[in-house]
Amino acid sequence: MRPSLVIHGAAGRMGRRILALAVEEQIFDVVGAVDHPGHPDAGKDAGTLAGVSPLGIKLGGEFPQKASVVIDFSLPQAAAKTAEWCEKCGAALVVGTTGLERAQMEILTAAAKKIAIVQAANMSLGMNLLFSIVGKVAAALGPEYDIEITEAHHRLKKDAPSGSALSLAKSICESTGRDYPGCLVHGRQGKDVPRQTGTIGMHAIRAGDIVGKHAVIYGTQGETITISHDAQSRDTFARGALRAAQWVLNQKPGLYSMQDVLGLK
Ligand code: NAD
Repeated sequence: MRPSLVIHGAAGRMGRRILALAVEEQIFDVVGAVDHPGHPDAGKDAGTLAGVSPLGIKLGGEFPQKASVVIDFSLPQAAAKTAEWCEKCGAALVVGTTGLERAQMEILTAAAKKIAIVQAANMSLGMNLLFSIVGKVAAALGPEYDIEITEAHHRLKKDAPSGSALSLAKSICESTGRDYPGCLVHGRQGKDVPRQTGTIGMHAIRAGDIVGKHAVIYGTQGETITISHDAQSRDTFARGALRAAQWVLNQKPGLYSMQDVLGLK
């Protein structure tokens, strides 16, 4: 028997792709497609909504009785509620939702005492490779190199800078002893705003339907080095979330990252 999967945020751009790939790859039995109770597509077949064959499961506002694992790509306040539900029914959890605030992270941390949770602002393999190298590059280059991070996303993205851009900055701060988030400078505007040594510039672009671009620029006199990643389709994140869901099923309670899932730690 396959493990059972619930998708929370199932009507969203990510939720639909996760559902479609879960059905295609036949690793899980999708037993729930949950979204905001007032969603205009509530009551419609979740498979049809995701562009695959009808599943016999309706998009709805309620979780089913039980599930092996839940994948959440919704909103921060909704993700925290999902963690409480998973804790109650003993389901493992994968949280891809970004923009989680401290209180919401505390809810995840508390739930992780009882269940296994993977939480990651970016579930692509390539980006996780970047997370593990950008700090080492910054430490090797030293303080002579200015560091700027740019990110670009579609016009509907709510949070800025992206969770992934913040993770890149955090990784650099951890490797170089910079203060996180104190050393971050968000955008730059004004007549007298020269660059301060040790800061990391953060720049967020929002345009059209860009799936996700991130770049870390290291610049000194005479050269710049850029390490960048472009996500060309949401499927890279959806496949990563499904890989995390398979992995988390066999883990002890705890709060894990994609670095754990991919063995990059
Ligand atoms: P979206 O707006 O298309 O989808 C979000 C879905 O959540 C919607 O269907 C919405 O109705 C639903 N929702 C809102 N409130 C809810 C509630 N209270 N209960 C249940 N469902 C609710 O957004 P998206 O592009 O699919 O992204 C969703 C989240 O995933 C965002 O936080 C985004 O930044 C994040 N994201 C993460 C990764 C990653 O790799 N970790 C990749 C892409 C997007």
